[in-house]
Amino acid sequence: MIAVSFDKCNNQEKKDFECPCTYAGCPRHGRCCDCVHYHRKKDQLPACYFTAEQEKTYNRSIDFFIECRDK
Ligand code: SF4
Repeated sequence: MIAVSFDKCNNQEKKDFECPCTYAGCPRHGRCCDCVHYHRKKDQLPACYFTAEQEKTYNRSIDFFIECRDK
């Protein structure tokens, strides 16, 4: 098994700038590996999978993602 550390990310400053998530106060903002890990455990996708309008709903479910893709 590969050990993954979420403590250090050489790209965090850059990713924090690029992260489209508008959910205020999330400690995973700009920490993509931590963000994916968190949402994957909940059968969800991170904010960057959604358009700006979809992202604002804070619905990160895979069902919502598929529903949006089908439109
Ligand atoms: S997508 Fe989720 S985990 Fe990622 S920054 Fe936004 S609220 Fe945090």
